[in-house]
Amino acid sequence: MTTNFSILRSRLQSERRRLNEELDELKTSSTPKEERRDGSPFGKREEEATETLELEKRLALEKRLKEQLFEVEHALDKFAKDTYGKCDGCGRAIDPARLEALPYAALCMACKAKLAKEPRLKPTP
Ligand SMILES: [Zn+2]
Repeated sequence: MTTNFSILRSRLQSERRRLNEELDELKTSSTPKEERRDGSPFGKREEEATETLELEKRLALEKRLKEQLFEVEHALDKFAKDTYGKCDGCGRAIDPARLEALPYAALCMACKAKLAKEPRLKPTP
């Protein structure tokens, strides 16, 4: 069975577009509510806690989206360098089934498992 890389590539390209759109949306919706800060220093705590939580959630989501975008960009970069489908760790071909499920996978299962055991070896983006 041969994997159709051009299909995977177009999937990655639309994924990149989607991630960029989501990040844009996140930015436009993240206007701080500073203007509602009135009077008393008491009684607003719960509301502020909720806002902090919302902000944290948004930051976490933004971080996740950026990480995903980074992986997608990296995969597209591998297409450009003609190394797509090869493991970043050991250079062997990544299981086509894995690529079908996760087109931006940069590591084979073995290297991924190794990385999970030794998180300090994780390459910094
Ligand atoms: Zn590998």
